[in-house]
Amino acid sequence: MKRKTFLIRSFSTLAGIFAVPTINLLAQNPSQDQKNKPLIISTWPHGLEANVAAWEVLKENGRALDAVEKGVRVTELDPSVTSVGVGSYPDSDGNITLDASIMNEHGNCGAVSFLQHIKTPISVARMVMEKTPHVMLAGEGALQFALANGFRKEDLHTDFSRQQWKEWKKSNKIVPIDLHNHDTISMLAIDNNGDISGACTTGGLAFKHPGRVGDSPIIGAGLYVDNEIGGAGATGVGEVIMKTLGTHLIVELMRNGLSPYAACKEAVMRAVKKVPDARNLPVYYIAVNKQGDFGAYGTNTAFEYAVYTENKGNTLHKADSVF
Ligand code: ASP
Repeated sequence: MKRKTFLIRSFSTLAGIFAVPTINLLAQNPSQDQKNKPLIISTWPHGLEANVAAWEVLKENGRALDAVEKGVRVTELDPSVTSVGVGSYPDSDGNITLDASIMNEHGNCGAVSFLQHIKTPISVARMVMEKTPHVMLAGEGALQFALANGFRKEDLHTDFSRQQWKEWKKSNKIVPIDLHNHDTISMLAIDNNGDISGACTTGGLAFKHPGRVGDSPIIGAGLYVDNEIGGAGATGVGEVIMKTLGTHLIVELMRNGLSPYAACKEAVMRAVKKVPDARNLPVYYIAVNKQGDFGAYGTNTAFEYAVYTENKGNTLHKADSVF
């Protein structure tokens, strides 16, 4: 199981429906035939739909930065995704607070943390990058910046998020991190120019402590891109990812010659070795290198990631894992 990666589903861009599952005959190394551009890789099954929007940009010779922003906005705006943007699980006070970061091919980055009431935090993060001398704006300051730049203040709750919070409030217990109450979208893209950009956006952990910020807006933790080398994105328990600066580590490991797969695996192993309990927590990485190889790895078997290439279309893969 550990070395096998299955291509478990293919995604029809035209019909927008899942096709019959197929087995990837290149299971031992899924990236070997993918040395082409453009390329998109993103976390979780919701990455499939996000990839479609990102691909629209790349196929028109667009910039990777525009692709990742457009791609993850699809997930942010989808109320059925309960871990990103609109309809995210609230914090323990019942507020939806969002984190996001974006990084371009020039090594510039922007981020927002603890942002409320804005449906598309990734676009605010991009504006922080492009319109301010700063990297991150947080909380009320981030909200005021967004409102001053044309974003609308909106209620991000859905009936489901309200009801989930009310249910949780009855017990008021810290919720164990499981496979259902988190799931950031991280996305990396290589455009026709060979330039790499990345985006990462999340509602964070369900019923988290008010004010809690995870890895997703932290450059080098939730997201890192070095256009000379490659990029990496994270999902899973932010506290573990932050303690090991996983995505920066992955890019540095690739700089030293590791493949994206081997670099993701090493970053997961580092977390397991250095952070008590990391072996029991979900931590997952995706990565691409400048050559168009991609890889992923996780602590457990739950992780799936979506890849879009010209040759293979939009496909969902199961990542290898330590446990
Ligand atoms: N990394 C996110 C956070 O800790 C959650 C996730 O990816 O599931 O906020």
